[in-house]
Amino acid sequence: MEPIYARCDKSCNQSFYVKHFKEDKLHNTIEKTYFNCPNCGQEYVCFYTDEEVRKLQKKQRELQRKLKWVTDADEVKALLIEQDKLRAATKERMDAIKQKVEQQHEQ
Ligand SMILES: [Zn+2]
Repeated sequence: MEPIYARCDKSCNQSFYVKHFKEDKLHNTIEKTYFNCPNCGQEYVCFYTDEEVRKLQKKQRELQRKLKWVTDADEVKALLIEQDKLRAATKERMDAIKQKVEQQHEQ
């Protein structure tokens, strides 16, 4: 993942660059990608993935590789539409997992 600029808005308010994202396996096949504030250790979750999301992400990477060498305009167009669909499906799935995981934490 690309480094991101973040601010610890839940706790100490410090700004920092995140270069290292951590991954934790949760129950089932869910993985959590997150980082901690280097100042106070507050945890920030980027996203959750499961097998379905990882499959979708793999498809997206394959599609992006294809897009680099495909020159036919119609084919490019079709691939871009497919890419949008995959992105939307990934986001939807990630949101659903996030909701599920965070609900379980609250119980
Ligand atoms: Zn902090």
